[in-house]
Amino acid sequence: MKRIIAATRNEGKIREMNAITEELGIAIISRDDAGVPPVEIEETGTTFEENSYIKAKAIMEMTGEPALADDSGICCDYLGGAPGVQSARWSGGDDEDNNAKLVRLTEPVPPEERIARYVCVMTLVYPDGETLRARGEVEGMIITEPRGDGGFGYDPYFVPRGEGVAPGETRTFAEFPAEEKNAISHRGRALQEMARLLRERSK
Ligand code: IMP
Repeated sequence: MKRIIAATRNEGKIREMNAITEELGIAIISRDDAGVPPVEIEETGTTFEENSYIKAKAIMEMTGEPALADDSGICCDYLGGAPGVQSARWSGGDDEDNNAKLVRLTEPVPPEERIARYVCVMTLVYPDGETLRARGEVEGMIITEPRGDGGFGYDPYFVPRGEGVAPGETRTFAEFPAEEKNAISHRGRALQEMARLLRERSK
């Protein structure tokens, strides 16, 4: 079985990746299991593309094996795309502080204009420099009263809509069962696209 080293330490993400790459005969191994030292890789880019490339390339160089990284966040159209690549550290605090900032900046905006999208970019870098890149997005509306206790991050404030979402959907991502979220999420979509690129590559 071929293997790819994941730049993430998040076991949930690695399980999600393996569920999709297994049929391709590819195992995704966490960087810890591959023996990569626990150094922080600085995300110095200004786009999801740059940051996922920086992480994948760093892990590839440390292991000499193909490496896959993802970078994601939420972009609010009415905030000029913020917080974007800053999503994890937007407020300087934790998820609760980030969400408080989101609510504060969203409240003055008319409800019908509260349009946002989750974005995820996955980059796979091979030792010879070959690079595969996949982007996934899901659109939604931001609400200011949180609902649900599933998911993580901004999920209690995000009601998905658009392609792949039932018309009139009112649940937040935090109210979706994990599998249902994965089927339409930015990360799920980027992963499906990456699997398509890998299938093409192995033809
Ligand atoms: P990372 O790519 O895992 O570092 O995620 C960056 C940040 O974007 C997270 O810390 C969250 O704030 C936000 N984010 C990314 N994906 C999601 C999601 O599916 N739900 C909620 N928040 C997310």
